[in-house]
Amino acid sequence: MPDAKPAFQRILLKLSGEALMGDDAYGINPEVIDRIVGEIKEVSRMGVQIGVVIGGGNIFRGIAPSAVGMDRATADYMGMLVTMMNALSLGDALRRAGVEARVQSALRVDAVAEPYIRGRALRHLEEGKVVIFAAGTGNPFFTTDTGAALRGAEIGAELVL
Ligand code: UDP
Repeated sequence: MPDAKPAFQRILLKLSGEALMGDDAYGINPEVIDRIVGEIKEVSRMGVQIGVVIGGGNIFRGIAPSAVGMDRATADYMGMLVTMMNALSLGDALRRAGVEARVQSALRVDAVAEPYIRGRALRHLEEGKVVIFAAGTGNPFFTTDTGAALRGAEIGAELVL
């Protein structure tokens, strides 16, 4: 088979939290994570650089009742922290599958993830590491869809999925 060159060099994949739940009521379904990791691995092995923005609806939905009546910005910060858990989970699953991955967070959580630094993210991507962008934009009143558009533009992704 002739060496097929991938159509895209760098892509940004947005994974909503709900996509991680599978048929569960909330949380992260291991089979779903494994399937997503398999697909990311396959595309990464083709030489495509992959950034991932991950949502938090799967866990945030579970804690939403406790956020009722809460100050909006505080609830949004909780939502961003939830995306952090998903990012760590995906990063761990990727590494277990033999795919190098780094988590970068828009909120400072130095003990568990790198801060988002664009130049560093670009270097990771060039080295073939999957970069998972956690905490969306880092700002309340936004969603991870905005985070995906923002990071996609910042890293020069040719495609946002
Ligand atoms: N969030 C935020 N700013 C951001 C990204 C996310 O405040 O830049 C909060 C917001 O409360 C949001 C939650 O984090 O509802 C989870 O993100 P999102 O709803 O985008 O997750 P998804 O629907 O993709 O699972």
